[in-house]
Amino acid sequence: MATTHASTAAAALAAEHRAARIDLAAAFRWFARLNMHESVANHLSVAVSADGAKFLINPRGRHFARMSAGDLLLLDANDPATLDRSDAPDPTAWHLHARLHARIPAARCVMHLHPKYATALACLQDPTMYPIDMNTMRFFGRVALDDGFSGMALSDGEGDRVAGLMSGGKSVLLLANHGVLVIGATVAAAFDEMYYFERAAETLLTCYAAGKPLRTVSGELAALTERQWRGYGQLAIDHLDNIKAILDAEEPAYRR
Ligand SMILES: [Zn+2]
Repeated sequence: MATTHASTAAAALAAEHRAARIDLAAAFRWFARLNMHESVANHLSVAVSADGAKFLINPRGRHFARMSAGDLLLLDANDPATLDRSDAPDPTAWHLHARLHARIPAARCVMHLHPKYATALACLQDPTMYPIDMNTMRFFGRVALDDGFSGMALSDGEGDRVAGLMSGGKSVLLLANHGVLVIGATVAAAFDEMYYFERAAETLLTCYAAGKPLRTVSGELAALTERQWRGYGQLAIDHLDNIKAILDAEEPAYRR
């Protein structure tokens, strides 16, 4: 019986692992379609062990538009020889994502991009996401700011420092002079958060471009709207399910 239970648990874990690969590959391909990727840089990862130490991440040098489920590297945050592997990941991805998965249990999925509007927001003297519409209000109180840009993240110390900034239930880390990072309980949740953050930044930056005063709502109203967004968790699941359905029809190789 013990063997049966063990094999059933192993089969369930393998199925979950497989589903995580497919979900993450879909996110890569969709970010490429949205032009939120940058060359062959930037990284998305998802934890596949209960403690978050084992995680999947994109291999070095592969374009988001060509990413498939089977391409993703399976890494162990506790393996000090990871960067010695012949297929070693990009060092900046390793230091940041390994420490975030290891230190923040809620960070099952970590997405780091340099999308146009979020990055432009991160390059303003005042990068506050002011609550001016429903999308910007979604992020009221959810955004941490890393204003300590110090070049590329090439040490575990940098990953630990960034992980320390994500306390208090923050889901977004705006990296000043750099880009944005989001965490989520699932690939769907992190994907949706990244998508909406870029949309919110686009609206705010478009208002700035208009050169007119912002019509900012009160903190109470922004906080209420943020709470209401949390009741829409199914939206993130439906969002990614629809994207997978489109990819299944148009580029099913992402599942390979
Ligand atoms: Zn970056």
